[in-house]
Amino acid sequence: MRRNPYRIGLAILATIAALPCLGFCAVGALHAQEDPEQAAAWTTIYVGLDLALLALIIWLWTWALRPTPPPSGCPACGYDLSRLRTGSCPECGQPVRP
Ligand SMILES: [Zn+2]
Repeated sequence: MRRNPYRIGLAILATIAALPCLGFCAVGALHAQEDPEQAAAWTTIYVGLDLALLALIIWLWTWALRPTPPPSGCPACGYDLSRLRTGSCPECGQPVRP
């Protein structure tokens, strides 16, 4: 199985687009300390946004780097079914059209 170059390109573009947002939230969290009354609330908001964005980027890269099965591959495990004569995948047992 091979990786999808379009998914990787999308992940690169999304990461580049997200970097200024990550920086903005980091700077915002530092500046929040200047107002002692609301420092805790703003720090929580900025750090929360940063962590959510990081989680989104990690999920996106996990999705982008996941190998895609070939067109004749089993939808469940990617096993090549091009010469299959039975109604199920010999690798994982998934029912498939022969
Ligand atoms: Zn399979």
